[in-house]
Amino acid sequence: MKPIKSEIKYRLKIKADTLHTLLILLFITGLILTMITAVSKSASAQSMQCSICGKTIRGDYWKYGDKVICNQCKNSLPTCEMCGIPMKKFYDVEGHKICPDCYNNKLTRCEKCNTPIYTYWNWEGPDGKTHKLCKNCLEKAMGYCELCGKSLTGKSWTVTSDSTGRTGKYCDYCKNHSHTCFYCSLLVPWNAQPLKDGRYICSYCRQTLLSQQSDFKKIKSEVNSVFANELNLKLNHNPSLSLVDLPKLKKLVKANQTSENQSGGDNMGLYVGTKLITTDSKGKKTTKLQQGDIYILNYMPRDVAVWVMAHEMAHGWYEERVFTHKDPLIVEGFAEWVAYHVLKQKGLNTLAESITKREDEVYGKGLRFLLNMEKERGFKGVLDYVTR
Ligand SMILES: [Zn+2]
Ligand SMILES: [Zn+2]
Ligand SMILES: [Zn+2]
Ligand SMILES: [Zn+2]
Ligand SMILES: [Zn+2]
Ligand SMILES: [Zn+2]
Repeated sequence: MKPIKSEIKYRLKIKADTLHTLLILLFITGLILTMITAVSKSASAQSMQCSICGKTIRGDYWKYGDKVICNQCKNSLPTCEMCGIPMKKFYDVEGHKICPDCYNNKLTRCEKCNTPIYTYWNWEGPDGKTHKLCKNCLEKAMGYCELCGKSLTGKSWTVTSDSTGRTGKYCDYCKNHSHTCFYCSLLVPWNAQPLKDGRYICSYCRQTLLSQQSDFKKIKSEVNSVFANELNLKLNHNPSLSLVDLPKLKKLVKANQTSENQSGGDNMGLYVGTKLITTDSKGKKTTKLQQGDIYILNYMPRDVAVWVMAHEMAHGWYEERVFTHKDPLIVEGFAEWVAYHVLKQKGLNTLAESITKREDEVYGKGLRFLLNMEKERGFKGVLDYVTR
């Protein structure tokens, strides 16, 4: 935006030009004398006064439209950067001196806060239209980096967590220098402290972070009651519950990766069932679940804990009834299917929907397979299918 300058200077002093011919000199002198007389006359008749200082004009004066300004005012006062007219009072707009008239009537106004602005930014709003905004309103409209708080007027990134549905907006620097939350995949500041086992947990997930055995026990009994009261999947045994860190869990998963438990892909929890096979006098073998143990990652956001607990307890329910080897797609798909229903019962719909979208060959695929089956055969039909 360029300021518009207009100034017309009227000089009254005349220098005689000795090089001119007498005739021209006489003519010009005559003409100028007429002008001086005319101006002097009008000045004295109206007692022409400077529109700034109010003093009667003597000598040079300056004319801007219908404003008359004395030479002293013109030389001592600042001029408006938009209209170029000298001024006594002015507004400082982003370091630019602007007269009250231009400030109130000519400057562009921010479309959000209505403040007159010298420099404006074009911002494309959600309505698809371009809006002229001041720097403040632009920053507010663009948002701030969730990690460092800087305004996102430069290159920025938006990350959406599948599991929570939450969206994080980050500046380019933070995007490239941060860590990823173990649970929701949003970003964690570069200088954040990880857990001892290296897991980074974002501030949002930390809000509901469970760390005590008693917290997890509570979740277990909540899930237990949904199993028993809402889903009719009452467990006949009470699995033990142990909190472990990530390396310990990985070790346990590896150690228990038998032919019966091939998937081993749970990275947040594990159910281990110990079975007892007895042979009676007639040589008939009977398999019975003797002991069930749930291992769950320590430090877990509440909603995730409900999901993982429901998943592991579903394994427990399954192991009470099925003793033959089954396809991991069905075993893990079933655990996810039960967890899905528990999440729905608990009103954790975003997380429930997100687990149906997991792109892996076992968990997501198995869950979708059983959800489709449920549409055709109903809840009971799925239970019959997985336990047959
Ligand atoms: Zn003046
Ligand atoms: Zn002005
Ligand atoms: Zn504004
Ligand atoms: Zn940042
Ligand atoms: Zn998180
Ligand atoms: Zn599992």
